[in-house]
Amino acid sequence: MNRFDGKTVVITGGNKGIGYAIAERFTAEGANVVIASVEPQVEEAAAKLRESGAAVSGVVCDVTDPEAVRVLYERAFDEFGQVDISVQNAGIITIAKVEDLTEDKWDATMAVNTKGVFLCCQEAIRQMRKHGRGGRLINTASGQARDGFIYTPHYAASKFGVMGLTQSLAKEVALEGITVNAICPGIIKTDMWDYNDRVWGQMLGDYGPGELMASWVQNIPMKRAGEGKDVAGLIAFLASEDADYITGQTINVDGGLIMS
Ligand code: NAD
Repeated sequence: MNRFDGKTVVITGGNKGIGYAIAERFTAEGANVVIASVEPQVEEAAAKLRESGAAVSGVVCDVTDPEAVRVLYERAFDEFGQVDISVQNAGIITIAKVEDLTEDKWDATMAVNTKGVFLCCQEAIRQMRKHGRGGRLINTASGQARDGFIYTPHYAASKFGVMGLTQSLAKEVALEGITVNAICPGIIKTDMWDYNDRVWGQMLGDYGPGELMASWVQNIPMKRAGEGKDVAGLIAFLASEDADYITGQTINVDGGLIMS
């Protein structure tokens, strides 16, 4: 018996990076999985996940578009009969000095990282109410929701916003058996890591490829960068029955980088 046999999980940003690792974890533990992404490669990623024998669909969906989000969750419901767990993981980052931080960059970041999380939670709750057996919402924030880093005020604000909406929704749906939690990954090896290394590396000094991230990893008590599977383990726990009594929380998964 697997922990998530018969459960349906929606994962945004599920075609690569942390989201793909989360999808691998849920498929390995028996869930039906719908991965969504703004990138068309989501279909390929779903096909790769299906090689394990799991039931997986890939849906192209821009989480900033309420209609597309509605269609995503209805499709998950129609295909698998229910939505039990929803992981709001899609996110973007740009890095800019304050004088270069345009309104467009600000709005785009808030639209994906904060509004997108809200829209997905809203639709997931609608679907969970159809079966009335509760559910799990897990929102990906960031270490920057604890401690805003230089040249990313828009990203830090968007991730602090994720913590606020998580707490507020948790209170609203608690009596329905729906839990809402957020997680804060630290430094995780993905495409986002490569972008951060290159752009921050240029802005903060004369760092060669990989050098800035290598120096940041030295600040992690465990002295290693995180991997998608480290994050996936926490998400699977929060989605499981063992986390029945945990809601409205924000939990770091960062090798001890931030201890508050
Ligand atoms: P990634 O760039 O590898 O993946 C991001 C995913 O989000 C992709 O699948 C992309 O298609 C999707 N996405 C972006 N905009 C979208 C939109 N409008 N609609 C739907 N999907 C969209 O990044 P990652 O490192 O895997 O990051 C995943 C999450 O973890 C993000 O929310 C990110 O902010 C957060 N995070 C990452 C790190 C890290 O070190 N990598 C640290 C802290 C937090």
